[in-house]
Amino acid sequence: MGLHHQVIVVGAGLSGLRAALAAQQDGLDVAILSRVHPVRSHSIAAQGGINASLANAEGGRDDNWEKHAFDTIKGSDYLADQDAVEIMTKEAPGIVYEMEHWGTPFSRTIDGRIAQRPFGGAAFPRTCYAADITGHALLHTMYEKSVKEEIKVYEEYLLLSIVKHDNACVGIVALNINNGEIIAMSADAVIIASGGYGRIYGNSTNALINTGSGMAAAYLSAGVPLKDLEFVQFHPTSLYGTNILITEGARGEGGYLFNNRHERFMKNYAAKAMELAPRDIVARSIQTEINEGRCYNNAYVLLDLRHLGRKKIMERLPGIRDICLHFAGLDPINKPIPIQPGQHYSMGGIDTNANGETSLAGLFAAGEAACVSVHGGNRLGGNSLLDTIVFGKLSGHFASGYVKAKKKNAADQALQAELAKVKAKVSRLENSAGKENPAKVRSELKTTMMEEAGVFRTKAKLEAGLAKIKELKERYKQIHLLSKIKKYNLDLVRNLELEGKLALAEVIVLGALKREESRGSHFRTDYPTRNDEHWLKHTLAHHTESGPRLDYKAVTITRFRPQARTY
Ligand SMILES: Cc1cc2nc3c(=O)[nH]c(=O)nc-3n(C[C@H](O)[C@H](O)[C@H](O)COP(=O)(O)OP(=O)(O)OC[C@H]3O[C@@H](n4cnc5c(N)ncnc54)[C@H](O)[C@@H]3O)c2cc1C
Repeated sequence: MGLHHQVIVVGAGLSGLRAALAAQQDGLDVAILSRVHPVRSHSIAAQGGINASLANAEGGRDDNWEKHAFDTIKGSDYLADQDAVEIMTKEAPGIVYEMEHWGTPFSRTIDGRIAQRPFGGAAFPRTCYAADITGHALLHTMYEKSVKEEIKVYEEYLLLSIVKHDNACVGIVALNINNGEIIAMSADAVIIASGGYGRIYGNSTNALINTGSGMAAAYLSAGVPLKDLEFVQFHPTSLYGTNILITEGARGEGGYLFNNRHERFMKNYAAKAMELAPRDIVARSIQTEINEGRCYNNAYVLLDLRHLGRKKIMERLPGIRDICLHFAGLDPINKPIPIQPGQHYSMGGIDTNANGETSLAGLFAAGEAACVSVHGGNRLGGNSLLDTIVFGKLSGHFASGYVKAKKKNAADQALQAELAKVKAKVSRLENSAGKENPAKVRSELKTTMMEEAGVFRTKAKLEAGLAKIKELKERYKQIHLLSKIKKYNLDLVRNLELEGKLALAEVIVLGALKREESRGSHFRTDYPTRNDEHWLKHTLAHHTESGPRLDYKAVTITRFRPQARTY
């Protein structure tokens, strides 16, 4: 038999590292598989902070987990499962203190406590931060901990397929990017912690590696359903030109949004919360200003930080200043920042419960790749970093419980069969003489998703999007590789991933077409209101040969009845 570990975690971002630490602490043999070095995971790019009701800030002393839960559920437009939100918000303070004790250098209040800043949709300053590089601080801490605990990492391996035997997950097939070898690894449990799919869209704030390939493997090879994929978060403020994120913390620290009439237009959309309304609302407001021409170059509005002053900008938002200097050639201390909405986050993902369990025994998921669901129709800023650590930890512990209770089954044959299948598929791609240029397929997909499944959606646009994706799926069958080298063939990697991207895109667009209401980030101009009677439910997409089959499941409501959502 080849390589074996009791638990294999796919992904070395915050959720994957935390899951691996939990399973290893339970005494299991754990390994992580990651397509990049751990600290290059997208978690490193998180800027603004992580939410926990520590009640440290002036004006936030009355905060508690229940208020955090209420804000999260209202922010989700009532689509979040409330039992899961309760777990996350109760665990939050403990998680933040644990990261502090492991060494995360959080910013501080004058009296030495962890500092907290206001964020969108939150009733109190609740977002703990390390200046505007919170993800960097957290991921390095978590990585150091994993080095200390000697967790094995297979670096620069790409998950290609999840192997099943007797209705249970028994391992994976992966590509060693470094030498082109395709290998099978057996495992008693697999945890998918592979992050989001942002790069299916053009104008994304995400890293280039965020292609959703872990989600796609769960859907295509393990036959596990994806949940609520039509809920795509567009961040209100990405830098015009490159779509690099300008953190919500910039508005949390007091930044203003202006249109081309020098009007703080948020007063027309969310008179109370203004710039700190939740992301879905601010993104739609900005997009409306742009669509109606109260903008610059038909493309952007301004985020103004000048009134915060040099000292505050240098202290709280130094990374944002650097980004503006290097990528826009302007200094936000004396010039406003051109911004526009950009794809940012996936509320949907692999359908799991709060233990990280999927519908396949032995397969778990956590972090942005999973949908527990704590974010429902719209995630609040600062809740994703929290989600990754809370549910990463829980899934690691539940996976080890599963492994300890499980009867061993010999799965070598299943692994070898899947390995042969994947090798045949890769060699077909390598040897294809098809006429289609894969780069064109990828770029048409990005434009289609931005145009037809963006901030504002209609039946006609979504139908056009779906037809285009079906066309691209056909054209994908005719692509040829531009490079055939074995070592570091990123052309091969990109084009293996393209199949998964197309599958996810189809799920997003079909879910959005069927959901005839507006809720959270999913806004249908032809159905502009929320419809709880028919649509207070989760979408589940199952893979079939002819495309996704959708069904629905109830939302768990514990203590907060759905009400009108005003800010
Ligand atoms: C610019 C930016 C700023 C953000 N700021 C904040 C913030 O301030 N607060 C907040 O709460 N949230 C923020 N978010 C969201 C949050 O950072 C992410 O949702 C979260 O970090 C995702 O963590 P993760 O562990 O799920 O995945 P990631 O950190 O994305 O890691 C994914 C891992 O999976 C691996 N992987 C992926 N596919 C494969 C494959 N096929 N085979 C092998 N390995 C694979 C990658 O190598 C990587 O190690 C931000 C997001 C962005 C893009």
